[in-house]
Amino acid sequence: MVLKSPGEIAIMDAANAIVRRILDELRSFIRPGLSTAEIDAFARERIRDGGAESAFLGYPHRGDGRDFPGSVCTSVNSEVVHGIPSAHVKLREGDIVSVDVGVRHRGYYGDGAETFPVGQISAEAERLLQVTRRALELGVEQARPGNRVSDIGHVVQRHVEENGFSVVREFVGHGIGANLHEDPQVPNFGAPGRRERLVPGMVLAIEPMVNAGAADVLLSAEDGWTARTRDGSLSAHFEVCVAVTDAGPRVLGHGSVA
Ligand code: MG
Repeated sequence: MVLKSPGEIAIMDAANAIVRRILDELRSFIRPGLSTAEIDAFARERIRDGGAESAFLGYPHRGDGRDFPGSVCTSVNSEVVHGIPSAHVKLREGDIVSVDVGVRHRGYYGDGAETFPVGQISAEAERLLQVTRRALELGVEQARPGNRVSDIGHVVQRHVEENGFSVVREFVGHGIGANLHEDPQVPNFGAPGRRERLVPGMVLAIEPMVNAGAADVLLSAEDGWTARTRDGSLSAHFEVCVAVTDAGPRVLGHGSVA
């Protein structure tokens, strides 16, 4: 695992500030009638305005040529992650849409995600969003020196399951830096006190994916990317990048200690 210097963390803070700004702007941009291709176009422009490039556009798919075609991932309702933006997918009142934004900026990566309501959503969908966001906050609080990687996933899983939802196992958080995906892996489940010890200079992308129903997911055979819940239940995804510092967890892109 690669530890980052304060200078590198400053660049990653700037990369994640681009991500944060786009997600904040999407909150008011997303509305019924919008296609996920329009979300992609909006984000693509903002990434470019920020002097960055998409981390996901052209991401290789197991060498079979099906490189990721979007600048961001847009996953609607029962789609968990890695949905492909499309002009044919139009958001409807009551939907939820997860947008994952990854950028490369001055040689370093930023990565973040949020699930947005489309118009008025059901009380259950609202609760799913709140529980997933809170699970992320609880996970972030564990990202401090002396703890271990599995302390993060443990609190995420506990909060999610206490609320009757389930955490996805197939996709996990990750170290991040000059590469989008670095060691260690950061699962959203497991017993506490296991795996790597957290030390200052580590930067982790923490990203709970939470299903309203069962944890099982299916990968689209058709596009090779889109993961959806097996039972068709709703799924939410929130992600931030966090630097482990002597002062505790620092969420990047916010310019403050969490
Ligand atoms: Mg990520």
